[in-house]
Amino acid sequence: TVGGVSISLSSEFATAVPEMAVPWEAAEVAEPRLLVLNEPLAEELGLDPAWLRSGGLRFLVGNHAPGVAQAYAGHQFGGYSPRLGDGRALLLGELTDAEGRLRDLHLKGSGRTPFARGGDGLAAVGPMLREYVVSEAMHALGIPTTRSLAVVSTGATVHREEPLAGAVLARVAASHLRVGSFQYARNTGDVDLLRRLADHAIARHHPGSTHLGLFEEVVAAQASLVARWMLVGFIHGVMNTDNMTISGETIDYGPCAFMEAYDPATKYSSIDHRGRYAYGNQPIVAEWNLARLAEALLPLFSDDEEKAVALAMEALGTFQERFEQAWIDGLRAKLGVSGDVKPLVKDLFTLMHDNHVDFTSFFHLLGKAAAGDPEPARSLFLDLAGIDAWLARWREQNPDADAMSRVNPVYIPRNHLVEEALRAGSDGDLGPFERLVDAVTSPYGERAGLEHYAAPAPQDFSATYQTFCGT
Ligand code: AMP
Ligand code: MG
Ligand code: MG
Repeated sequence: TVGGVSISLSSEFATAVPEMAVPWEAAEVAEPRLLVLNEPLAEELGLDPAWLRSGGLRFLVGNHAPGVAQAYAGHQFGGYSPRLGDGRALLLGELTDAEGRLRDLHLKGSGRTPFARGGDGLAAVGPMLREYVVSEAMHALGIPTTRSLAVVSTGATVHREEPLAGAVLARVAASHLRVGSFQYARNTGDVDLLRRLADHAIARHHPGSTHLGLFEEVVAAQASLVARWMLVGFIHGVMNTDNMTISGETIDYGPCAFMEAYDPATKYSSIDHRGRYAYGNQPIVAEWNLARLAEALLPLFSDDEEKAVALAMEALGTFQERFEQAWIDGLRAKLGVSGDVKPLVKDLFTLMHDNHVDFTSFFHLLGKAAAGDPEPARSLFLDLAGIDAWLARWREQNPDADAMSRVNPVYIPRNHLVEEALRAGSDGDLGPFERLVDAVTSPYGERAGLEHYAAPAPQDFSATYQTFCGT
């Protein structure tokens, strides 16, 4: 009960695997100030927006009841850490939403926990607003993701390279179970813990499934998820195994960014020196992460280790095919056609790469070509003979302009727009942020007055743009 309003949060995770749930309280927030509230999501969760704006503010920063810090492990850039966990985050508990689904309510930036190691447990306004706008854009694009409920500034100062205003993000997820959660459980050597964790995941995500079935479902969900990222040019940026969910939702919007000019080698993260998490590597990395999940789950597949490995390999072996299928189906939809698109796609990507063509603009403008006006799409290319020949082949398949406009977004959270909005928001002007959220949460179909949000970044911005982790 908070200020007379009673909220019923369950603690199924903490009950199922208490060894992985450290009871913990959020840091007391002296001066909470609501920066942004997701009213439709609040209502979906049965939380009254008017109350959240007033008496419920304490609830949004965790100052009403203790939560738990979740333990997990993870491979970070390929190196294994047996103990990561929520260093600056807390699971407040699970809420039952309007459709009867259990959803995690989770805080980020809520203070140090026993997993904080050297970290200060805090988060700055800018990165929390980034997670808010990008995750809500992903949701609007129909891509499974954790959601953002609110960002509240704390009044505290966060010391990074410069002093920054602190904030707490309230986020909602189907669960926060990660590949790294299973790695942690396996690493304890306690098979009973591993089994309880897997059974908890099954109960939440795939009731009735076997342990092997759970793994197969995760393989399928991740193959589909990564294909959907790639179809909108999304680069996660830090696909460590602790940042990959069992639910198939996108999680952890740190150094993520959207690709502008098509190039599979695109990466923006300042710490991803070797491009491990570059745009075109994402399917391979996802499969690598799923192999780590399989290793963690092996004792549950069979008592016979050889047999367990064979079962895991067989399930993992479906990843590539599933990914390819989702990717090619998605591209077919983006091109508005129904035939064989493989040769068409291969030649298109060569042209786009060679001509540095903006990924999002191209597919959007190709819709105009399908409707009879090829000039806007054409004008993105220097090699006009090349694109004309390609357009002629594509047109033979009778593209459907209406269908294309339903899958090719006009408005995505472009990097320069996000930076502009975060800079203003961190300085106390939330106008640009709110306008950006409005644009990208209705991504399909051109709207008057929003031309600025559809245009690629100026060349000099894109050439040097970098994103940063953990700020
Ligand atoms: P991330 O890069 O956000 O996936 O985080 C990796 C790990 O570092 C997780 O265990 C986080 O909880 C932890 N972490 C990141 N930033 C902080 C911070 N400021 N204070 C404490 N722990 C942090
Ligand atoms: Mg993380
Ligand atoms: Mg290149």
